[in-house]
Amino acid sequence: MSNGVIQSVLTEKRVFPPFPGLVENANLSGMQAYEALCEQARRDPDAFWGQQARELLVWSKPFTQVLDASQAPTYRWFPDGELNLSVNCLDKHLGTPTADKTAIVFEADDGQVTRVSYRELHARVCVFANGLASLGCKKGDRVIIYLPMSIEAIVAMQACVRLGVTHSVVFGGFSSKSLNERIVDVGASLVITADGQCRGGRKLPLKPAVDDALAMGGCDAVRKVVVYQRTGGEVAWNEGRDVWLHDLLAGQSDQCEPVPVEAEHPSFILYTSGSTGKPKGVQHASAGFLLWALMTTRWTFDIKPDDVFWCTADVGWITGHSYIVYGPLAAGATQVVFEGVPTYPNAGRFWEMIQRHHVSVFYTAPTAIRSLIKAAESTPDVHPRHYTLDSLRIIGSVGEPINPEAWMWYYTQVGRERCAVVDTWWQTETGGHMLTPLPGVTPMKPGSCAMPLPGIEAAVVDEHGKELEAGHGGLLVIKRPWPGMIRNVWGDPERFRKSYFPEELGGVYLAGDSAQKDADGYFWIMGRVDDVLNVSGHRLGTMEVESALVAHPLVAEAAVVGRPDDTTGEAVVAFVVLKRDVPEGAEAVELGKQLRDWIAKEIGPIAKPRDIRFGENLPKTRSGKIMRRLLRTVAKGESVTQDVSTLENPAILDQLSKSV
Ligand code: ATP
Ligand code: MG
Repeated sequence: MSNGVIQSVLTEKRVFPPFPGLVENANLSGMQAYEALCEQARRDPDAFWGQQARELLVWSKPFTQVLDASQAPTYRWFPDGELNLSVNCLDKHLGTPTADKTAIVFEADDGQVTRVSYRELHARVCVFANGLASLGCKKGDRVIIYLPMSIEAIVAMQACVRLGVTHSVVFGGFSSKSLNERIVDVGASLVITADGQCRGGRKLPLKPAVDDALAMGGCDAVRKVVVYQRTGGEVAWNEGRDVWLHDLLAGQSDQCEPVPVEAEHPSFILYTSGSTGKPKGVQHASAGFLLWALMTTRWTFDIKPDDVFWCTADVGWITGHSYIVYGPLAAGATQVVFEGVPTYPNAGRFWEMIQRHHVSVFYTAPTAIRSLIKAAESTPDVHPRHYTLDSLRIIGSVGEPINPEAWMWYYTQVGRERCAVVDTWWQTETGGHMLTPLPGVTPMKPGSCAMPLPGIEAAVVDEHGKELEAGHGGLLVIKRPWPGMIRNVWGDPERFRKSYFPEELGGVYLAGDSAQKDADGYFWIMGRVDDVLNVSGHRLGTMEVESALVAHPLVAEAAVVGRPDDTTGEAVVAFVVLKRDVPEGAEAVELGKQLRDWIAKEIGPIAKPRDIRFGENLPKTRSGKIMRRLLRTVAKGESVTQDVSTLENPAILDQLSKSV
């Protein structure tokens, strides 16, 4: 096929209407209201965004201009306005009934629960900010946060933005080398870490990774390391450099004057997951980012005063930034924050916590859903049916495409066919949701992220930027700027332009995902552009073939990649995780044949995998995303030489190297 068009080979026909009970009271209620808002944003974008920014944000200096596009693709939003993000998340609630409402319900790995009200959180952020200021932290500095999931992590991030300090959070599972690279890249002057972390009933050290990272060199700008004591026990100490958090905070005032920043001031730098290559240091602004995090929290999660929201992501990912630290707090929501893992003490932990805390809006990732399906099949005791999940009204998914069969399980077994499923498509770079069903608006189709939010103009184009007809897969692009968008790849404007605004496409934002839009205007993500398969001249996205595999009753999870082939250009190689243990020998051969026939029947002979390999798991980023670029190497029988710093489970590569 010409122009890089991607063929759609799998059709999903199921549709589930929104629930009347959810529609009536929704923040955005009914298709008409949604369409009117979209139309308003299209007709006069400046008026639309300007009004949202004036109504939803607290400004210390009001803006007079909405969008400055003179340096496109570096867009500047509300450029002459000033504000403080921590004021917008905390101070703003102090004179209201929200002040004494619970902001955070923290559940530790061992089950211990701590509650913090908005007033208390504000005080803790002020104390922390005063501590940082006493170490010389000031506006424009960059601080690395390398902490376990904790109230402290949220407080640390809020304390940074209170001072105008740009934070860069590094997920606590990253190695010292990855940490070193990020410290060097952002030019950090301070690192905030913990002695260790509690996960899955174990105490794991954290500070040694910081010591190693700093010893690797290039970190001369780091003056201090602040250490939160979480696990207790021995830690190596660097006198003069290391400071205990409790010592730093002792005696600090619980009042701290917020530092106003320009709307475009970099609030944070966050590295992408590294699914497709070397992570990019995504630089976000202040006002535009917060506005979009707040707008999307209100629309997608339909947050109401009595909701209990729970996003299971780590604050080390964008999902934790937008939907733990910023959006829900700016919205005045009560949220659950969880230290541990979904499988400890058993794989019923999520369901038990929803029951215990009466969670009404739950947000997790397909990787978690697929692994809990597998767990519920092998250990029936942890099946969600054994828990009271009546409090749920909205359940969400983010991070990867959710295969229709996993969607159905989530919808029926967790949502009990009465919750809205919001399959939110977005990226570190977009700052917040872009395409998603809305609980009070959208009929749901399993596996589709539905339609763009008001203000977002999404399209599917060919490689010359020409819009494709319904049903044809191509490049997903965003045609207009939006406030939450990436401002730069930190220190690398060239990479920013090339990756996201390539000249051939004429100025639109290139997401790097392939998608198709169906006749009803629904978007279906087909996979990463880098992962498209090319079999006998047919270009196929990974998502549809994987979803067909996952639809087989024995399959929990699957990834497909292309392997160079003399006759067909590429041959499909499938890596499969079963709901049971890994088959071997003749049984594996037999199952492989069954699955190949299944694909031939579900999709057609062209997508039939040449080779099927079984494993206990798939190579994943630390945020739980399948890394197909590594599987391509394994499929070729070569040894992996790419960047694996973001890989969670290196041992799996060996297992998968064995062929059927
Ligand atoms: P890198 O850019 O370094 O390869 P990454 O793309 O995995 O890393 P993130 O920004 O965390 O880093 O992930 C965004 C990507 O996740 C999207 O581009 C898309 O491929 C995938 N994704 C997120 N949500 C969805 C969703 N609801 N449906 C389909 N894909 C999704
Ligand atoms: Mg990406």
